[in-house]
Amino acid sequence: MKKEMILIKAGAIIDGTGAAPLKDSTILVEGDTITSVGGNHGNPDTVIDLSEYTVLPGLMDCHVHTSFNGEPNYYDIVLKQSTAYRTLTSLRNVQNDLMAGFTTVRVMGEKSHLDIALKNAIQEGVVAGPRIVASGQNITVTGGHADLWLAQDIQYKEGLGGVIVDGPEEFRKAARIQLKYGADLIKLVVTGGIMSAGGDPGMPYHSAEEIRAAVEEAHRLHKKAAAHCHGAEGARISVEQGVDTIEHGTYLIKEPDVIDLMAKKGAFLVPTLKATILHEDEIEGLPDFYVRKTREAQGYAIKSVQYAMKKGIRIAAGTDAGSPGNRHGENAEELEMLVKAGMTEMEAIVAATRTASECLGIQNDVGVLEKGKRADIIAVRGDPLSDISILKTVPFVMKEGKIFKEVS
Ligand SMILES: [Zn+2]
Repeated sequence: MKKEMILIKAGAIIDGTGAAPLKDSTILVEGDTITSVGGNHGNPDTVIDLSEYTVLPGLMDCHVHTSFNGEPNYYDIVLKQSTAYRTLTSLRNVQNDLMAGFTTVRVMGEKSHLDIALKNAIQEGVVAGPRIVASGQNITVTGGHADLWLAQDIQYKEGLGGVIVDGPEEFRKAARIQLKYGADLIKLVVTGGIMSAGGDPGMPYHSAEEIRAAVEEAHRLHKKAAAHCHGAEGARISVEQGVDTIEHGTYLIKEPDVIDLMAKKGAFLVPTLKATILHEDEIEGLPDFYVRKTREAQGYAIKSVQYAMKKGIRIAAGTDAGSPGNRHGENAEELEMLVKAGMTEMEAIVAATRTASECLGIQNDVGVLEKGKRADIIAVRGDPLSDISILKTVPFVMKEGKIFKEVS
């Protein structure tokens, strides 16, 4: 069957590499692939006129949780909603990400491998949604962040989107189980966190040996390993044991040499600044510990990112979407936050395109607009290089050559 040829006429193209925009240019899409950027093209089947718009690669959110959508009562969701129900809300949530221009999301720990099911159903065309990079269940220890800290006589093995295991051999097995069922990466919940009642975000809960065993299994299959780390010591142990991406990195600035170590090892930072914002009107209904921990994290998170930028760490955009007050579809607020922290608008766009694709290990397929890449293309009105908030309204979305949102 002949592939449909679509010619996009763009007012400007920001290609995701960080290069200056191409004015009044074109992109040719054949089937699901970009076959040319710029130049003249013969007889396309369809012409899409985006000459009043700026065209960019589909954006990527490197850290989302799909069965939540910013609700304050997330413990109720974990303990009372079935996997079937959570899968349905997950579908709605990732569709909101897609319609906001985020054509790829990395899901960082979901119950019962629902993220892997969602990924496969989207890939096979059963349902519409963004490209999903899935971690399966996250891996944590007894008393770690993703442990729900329930009463001693109440057992709940999956924790906050993950498995609770102890010792290197259980870690190895937990990693192998995720990979067996199709996880693209493994996620370790190394330090304490904000959303859990117990534990200290600054403290590491996993041992070096446990991290090492899980990372070995991921790397053996050429998959990546990510570590949730607020505190610097957890990040240090993780990076030493070969972890590829540090999630959050809130308190890295307390031990800046860890950032130097990340630079040396080539680790990525996914700062999730959006998750540290707590609007006054969103506090009601949130557990006290959540409000306290989030307020403590603000400020440190910004300073950590600023030092990471100075040291040339590769920073990829991720929102932690789903966490309280942090809704799917508002993902572009992270780019605003990165600019507020000191990135140029172009650097923030690269963090959500090329650098994000490298962080996810999918840079051969997507991330920049060039010949041979999958046609994940969005368009916005105006110039996001003069006002990054323009990316919060995305009127045109194409994923793999298929149009999901069309300008009128
Ligand atoms: Zn998270």
